[in-house]
Amino acid sequence: MNTSVVLEEMLIKRSQQKKRTSPLNYKERLFVLTKTRLTYYEGRAEKRFKKGSVDLHRVRCVEIVRNVGVAIPCQNKYPFQIVYDTNFLYVFAPTNESRSAWVQNIKEEIKSNQIIMTKFHPHFWLEGSWLCCRQVEKLAPGCEEYKLLGDISRKPLPPIPDEQGRRPPPPPPPPDEDEEVMEESEEAREEVVIAMYSFQGMESHDLPLTRGEEYTILEKCDVNWYRARNKYGDEGYIPSNYVTEKTSDNLDQFVWFCKNINRAKAEELLKKEDKEGGFMVRDSSSPGKYTVSLYTKSSGDGVPVVRHYYIKESRGTPNQFYLAERHLFNTILELIDYHKHNAAGLVARLRYPVGKHGVAPTTAGFSYDKWEINPAELTFMKELGSGQYGVVRLGKWRAQHKVAIKAIREGAMSEDDFIEEAKVMMRLSHPKLVQLYGVCTQQRPIYIVTEFMELGCLLNFLRQRRGSFGFEDLLSISLDVAQGMAHLEANGFIHRDLAARNCLVNDSFVVKVSDFGMARYVLDDQYTSSMGSKFPVKWSPPEVFNFCKYSSKSDVWSYGVLMWEVFTEGKMPFDQNQNHEVVLMVTKGHRLYRPKKATPPIYDIMERCWQEQPEERPSFADISFMITEALEAEPPSS
Ligand code: ADP
Repeated sequence: MNTSVVLEEMLIKRSQQKKRTSPLNYKERLFVLTKTRLTYYEGRAEKRFKKGSVDLHRVRCVEIVRNVGVAIPCQNKYPFQIVYDTNFLYVFAPTNESRSAWVQNIKEEIKSNQIIMTKFHPHFWLEGSWLCCRQVEKLAPGCEEYKLLGDISRKPLPPIPDEQGRRPPPPPPPPDEDEEVMEESEEAREEVVIAMYSFQGMESHDLPLTRGEEYTILEKCDVNWYRARNKYGDEGYIPSNYVTEKTSDNLDQFVWFCKNINRAKAEELLKKEDKEGGFMVRDSSSPGKYTVSLYTKSSGDGVPVVRHYYIKESRGTPNQFYLAERHLFNTILELIDYHKHNAAGLVARLRYPVGKHGVAPTTAGFSYDKWEINPAELTFMKELGSGQYGVVRLGKWRAQHKVAIKAIREGAMSEDDFIEEAKVMMRLSHPKLVQLYGVCTQQRPIYIVTEFMELGCLLNFLRQRRGSFGFEDLLSISLDVAQGMAHLEANGFIHRDLAARNCLVNDSFVVKVSDFGMARYVLDDQYTSSMGSKFPVKWSPPEVFNFCKYSSKSDVWSYGVLMWEVFTEGKMPFDQNQNHEVVLMVTKGHRLYRPKKATPPIYDIMERCWQEQPEERPSFADISFMITEALEAEPPSS
């Protein structure tokens, strides 16, 4: 076997997420390319441990990943992909030159492989779909012609010298064949999950879930629904967001773990619960790190306080976790269990987990493959409001589940187009998006059935409570919207009418984005023509009011205006000006002023959303990150 090194460099590898429920992570690995293999190691050249390798005979495609505005959550910003068998490996290089060297050199080695793909996916597989073509099957055929030879006709670049300009070090020891096999046998093992929430099951083909119980996954039918088996051997469909993988390092399975909770929300929840020693473990603002938030009433001066402690990691093999210096643990579970009994440096013991015993999340539709709702199963209650499409009422589905029902006024909507798209929209499922549950299309008027949001539209919510919001409340509202929008962005879905009036608030004060994509079905010239009186000019960037050029970046502009609405607690943007004046002003470079409640760094985010050139605006993933950082700005107590 030819083991001489062609290339060797520290790169970052994204976890392959062979199981959909496992979290994505990014790890620095030493990559070594020989004529026959690509091997990656943990550690540096001097001391390294092999983590995996790919036999180049099995590689079907290697190509750069074109970025479509998705934020890359690691420091290397030049991704490329290696497809082997049915696996997709994403690797991130530090520079464009480094990436080209890897892609071209691997291409050179695989050019006589028999199994090269004819079509491939130029963008990432992320959160259950391909960002390029929005197909939701990982093995769905590629959407763009793959030109292996197009590039390798050029001579491969020379190997990259190390920092001192020397050639790479001597060849690595002959690869040990088991690791790759190990990865695959892991795949073949049955996947066991734990229910984080109970689920009743809506249809006879569903499998009810009991919180805390284990289930075996039989098939991942789509991103939102799996087929599973319980311990009695019953099988059926379950919502994928109700279960989590059962592995020792998966914190999701514990009641005290709250994934997407920031500092302000943690404080709000702990104070609301008002239990001595109330605690939760949450994601900290630095990716991959966790914080313990702890509530105590006996802080000394008699006022209840919330303290935040980073979970620190000691360097070593294996890494160990600690809160207080002298108490080290192999897992976070052991650390939490210890501090349940011993304050050991904390302001109190961890006595009472405050976390996921709240309300279960929404499901993507009421059951797998079900978007048509039987109107006989709906009961109508009070009117909630009315909008462009008609009246919205509170209702119940099967006498039990509260829903909002929009009855579409005749002639208000191009209904057939909407009905076709509804199937796609139902798949968009995220805690910060108002869930579409289904439609009733066999009658007129047609109904659109969605998640019910108790506190109504965000604009009224801001106006009615003006003066009562703290800085963190306003940031937290902005973050909710940015997170919902980041999910749309990651799925290549454009909102087209993002504004505070199109967001809704529930009784836990969570803000969710609503009416996404719905602007496309409006039959009203005043709303659809950029000259029309109802066109949202004040929320639109120049490329939209001039050329109707919509994109995720035009949504980002609207988001900046929405943030301005939030920080003015519901003012009308450009309230002294008519739409046609705003067009002129914005074209000349005029922008909304800094609201009093927005600090300069927060106003800076708004201004970045209002860059004239769409590509200079941040992505929603970037915005979520910036706001999370601002929310965590106050340093934790240790
Ligand atoms: P349209 O899409 O027809 O313009 P909207 O979605 O703006 O209508 O809804 C009109 C009003 O109805 C909103 O401002 C809000 O007060 C109320 N509403 C709409 N959807 C919901 C919901 N899911 N939960 C609670 N209230 C809602």
